[in-house]
Amino acid sequence: MQLLDGKFVSEKFKQQIAVEAAEAFHEIGRKPHLVAILVGHDGGSETYVASKMKNCEEVGFKSTLYRYETIITEAELLKKIEEINVDTTVDGLIVQLPLPGHISADKVSEKISHEKDVDGFHPVNLGRMQRNLPSFLPATPYGILLMLSEYGIETAGKHCVVVGRSNIVGSPMSILMARNANPGNCTVTVCHSRTPDIKKFTLDADILIVAIGKKNFITADMVKDGVVIIDVGMNRETSTKTKSGYKLYGDVDFENVAPKALWITPVPGGVGLMTIIGLLKNTLGSAKKEIYP
Ligand code: NAP
Repeated sequence: MQLLDGKFVSEKFKQQIAVEAAEAFHEIGRKPHLVAILVGHDGGSETYVASKMKNCEEVGFKSTLYRYETIITEAELLKKIEEINVDTTVDGLIVQLPLPGHISADKVSEKISHEKDVDGFHPVNLGRMQRNLPSFLPATPYGILLMLSEYGIETAGKHCVVVGRSNIVGSPMSILMARNANPGNCTVTVCHSRTPDIKKFTLDADILIVAIGKKNFITADMVKDGVVIIDVGMNRETSTKTKSGYKLYGDVDFENVAPKALWITPVPGGVGLMTIIGLLKNTLGSAKKEIYP
């Protein structure tokens, strides 16, 4: 078993991004600039947004956070997004999910200009991705592709099983792995909550990508020897043993599954860190007008 080490790989990417950000500064006369909007006080969201802001500073980007209480109306939030869309000093705009029930995540992601949609959730970016055209790729799947490339993991001709079909991870991941690209060229199976006997499919996976949000869902009897496993799950449980007061678990029973895997991502220290790299690379690409000149 070998570890797909998100900590090591993400640090390497951050160094490259910092160099390119400094170059971009000379070209465009300012730092690449990411704006994040956070509504409410969800513990996980607070942590993720803080980490995104911190990483921006570390690579020499400007970052701005707008915070709102959950009483903000959908119309008010959409108006703020419109303002940021036309601000020429902003390269990327993300709205942290989940949003309160009275605000439609679909309306929000459609309102963000696709040219600033560095989370890659806008239908224009998703459509362009599907057609293999330049686009902002959804940050988590993008980070996973970068990880697979970095470790030289062969994907062409492999059977990739994706468990979970969310708009932000499972669904775009399945499209990316099936694309005629590298990484890609897999035969892809997508499993979800209505799939009977998931084990039948996971047992045949050469590459298994799991994003469902259920601690230790994938057990050792569900995978074959030599599988490559990407564990996207981030299941937070309170803990008295950690400084933060919680502990993260993946969707894969790491302890028992890892001995059968050729490669596997740990949680934490795997995909989460690569998601940030996807976001930073999209923001840099936006600042340099690489996707939408
Ligand atoms: P999500 O919106 O929470 O949806 C869960 C998906 O899993 C759905 O497609 C659902 O199927 C499927 N599912 C749920 N229970 C299942 C079961 N028992 N068997 C098979 N499929 C099942 O998904 P998400 O937003 O992608 O999040 C998934 C996990 O990834 C969460 O733990 C989240 O925190 C984590 N995450 C991590 C990162 C990162 O950077 N590491 C980024 C994003 C998300 P249906 O469609 O049929 O309901």
